[in-house]
Amino acid sequence: MTMIRSTVPVGASFADGSELDWAQSLVPGLVVLDARVPPNAPWSGVVAAGQVLTIVDVGGNQSGDCLMYNAADHDERYSAPDTLTWEQNAYVSTGTVLRSNEGRPLMTVIGNEIDRHDTIGGACGKESNTLRYGHHVMYHHGCRENFLAEASRHGLGVRDLVSNLNWFMNVPVEADGALGIVDGLSAPGRRVAVRAEMDVLVLVSNCPQMNNPCNDFNPTPLRMIVVEPS
Ligand SMILES: [Zn+2]
Repeated sequence: MTMIRSTVPVGASFADGSELDWAQSLVPGLVVLDARVPPNAPWSGVVAAGQVLTIVDVGGNQSGDCLMYNAADHDERYSAPDTLTWEQNAYVSTGTVLRSNEGRPLMTVIGNEIDRHDTIGGACGKESNTLRYGHHVMYHHGCRENFLAEASRHGLGVRDLVSNLNWFMNVPVEADGALGIVDGLSAPGRRVAVRAEMDVLVLVSNCPQMNNPCNDFNPTPLRMIVVEPS
């Protein structure tokens, strides 16, 4: 009999001794929302125009997969190709304007404590994990399943999932154009801050991936802080 072993731990715990830094908002202001997202779990919230969302990589090297929608019209949503084309750059970093499928600014990166973030690598999911890593990982949910579960709370479904952004994920574009998914550039307590340019519904999957190094094989919490800047 073949013994099938999974690399996936049971439950949403992280390794004993993990360094956690919950940090604070990157910009001063009145806190209107403060949420702690457990490892492997989804989160969503509306960030009103002018408000700033700080995402804290509490344990370091944790990918926060992210989708954004115009809160008043969900048919207008984040577009990775529009964002990359307007920026003429393969990465998301300070100053990047995150654009919709109508070319309009949804959010702008106004603060950033790591070199760059990815918007090419896409989201993990049960099907893609099975294809890449084998059938023994089929039972473990991925970001796609997290997105679907959270999206359903807002009347959104499969047709509304598009190519996403990965906060804190390191997907280098090599000189020959090849993409890697490698160990992260982040560390406990590192933050990114994005200002909403319209009322934006933000969906985040705290990535459960355990089959490649995008979460350092130790999924840890994220903290989401929304402020009205002072
Ligand atoms: Zn994922």
